[in-house]
Amino acid sequence: METKSPEKSDAEWRASLSPEQYSVLREHGTERPGSSPLNEEHREGLFRCAICGEPLFDSATKFESGSGWPSFYALKPGAVGTSEDTSHYTRRTEVHCAKCGGHLGHVFPDGPRPTGERYCMNGCALDFEPKAK
Ligand SMILES: [Zn+2]
Repeated sequence: METKSPEKSDAEWRASLSPEQYSVLREHGTERPGSSPLNEEHREGLFRCAICGEPLFDSATKFESGSGWPSFYALKPGAVGTSEDTSHYTRRTEVHCAKCGGHLGHVFPDGPRPTGERYCMNGCALDFEPKAK
C-alpha cells in the first residue's frame, strides 16, 4: 500500500544520515565545538536543512560567535520553529526545522545587532549551497 505521508520511518532516517547527523537532528544531540567545516564557510550562499533541504539561513546573517558552532543572527522567516528546552538544568530555546522537525541547535538572546539573537547551529544539521555566479 502506498503512503502519501512525507514522514520517513526511523530506519529511513538512519540510512540517509550520518551517525552524527542522526544524533543531532533526531536525538537532539550536539556536535563537538569547532568540528564543523561550516565554521570556516565565508562564501555567499544559503544554508539549508540537511534533512529536507529547506532554506534556513542566508550567509549574510552568519557571524563569528567564537562558540565553535556556526552562528547566525537572523533566519529565513518561517523557516524554523522553537520550543523550550529545560534539559541540562538550564532553560534554553531549542530550534528545529519548521518543515521536517529536525533539531538544529539553540537560540540565545546575546547575539549582535540588529536582532540581538544568536542562532547557535550544529553544522552537520546544515547543508551549504554557494550562491551561483
Ligand atoms: Zn528540514
